[in-house]
Amino acid sequence: MSNGMTRREREITDRGEIREILDRCMILHLGLVDGDEAYVVPMNYGYTMDEDGNLSLYLHGATQGRKLDLMRQNPKVFFEMECDVTPFEGDVACRYGTAYKSLMGRGRAVFIEDPAEKMKCLSLFMKTQTGKDFEFNEKLVKVVSIIRIDAVEYTAKKRNMPKARD
Ligand SMILES: Cc1cc2nc3c(=O)[nH]c(=O)nc-3n(C[C@H](O)[C@H](O)[C@H](O)COP(=O)(O)OP(=O)(O)OC[C@H]3O[C@@H](n4cnc5c(N)ncnc54)[C@H](O)[C@@H]3O)c2cc1C
Repeated sequence: MSNGMTRREREITDRGEIREILDRCMILHLGLVDGDEAYVVPMNYGYTMDEDGNLSLYLHGATQGRKLDLMRQNPKVFFEMECDVTPFEGDVACRYGTAYKSLMGRGRAVFIEDPAEKMKCLSLFMKTQTGKDFEFNEKLVKVVSIIRIDAVEYTAKKRNMPKARD
């Protein structure tokens, strides 16, 4: 099975552009393994990316449910997000399409249990989602679960709007 991108010219490798995608998408689709089946769940996220490109995503939600059960059984996850999605038309059916930017990759889920660490993760989550700084207390973080996804590898891609044809 090939893991290389088929349309290599559409790959984004510039860290600044990758950051922009992470700043703009707001929602990711989290792929999980359920026995011999797949389970995908949409979620909001926060992120950090260091200067070497190491990426972590921060998720928050209820303290129980299917996605949590699955991540406890198997922490291997996949994530996908997209932004700037703009459908375009063409003169024939095969020239219709969608401009977009997207990012996807695989990672490992880590359950954050330490209250101080949970507060930090929630602040990172809110910073990505709102651009604002929020502080949390122990009482608040007790009632939510916080998952950090450490990306093992990821790729980013864009499809531009086609140039106008005469
Ligand atoms: C745009 C968006 C952003 C979201 N952000 C968050 C977030 O940041 N944190 C968070 O915890 N949740 C978020 N949700 C809700 C999330 O998608 C799940 O519904 C929720 O997390 C419960 O997931 P679970 O696996 O625990 O499902 P459970 O509550 O255990 O339910 C299991 C079953 O319910 C059904 N189900 C679950 N979720 C959905 C769904 N979204 N749509 C249709 N059917 C569903 C499926 O059949 C699934 O098998 C978001 C949803 C959307 C659409």
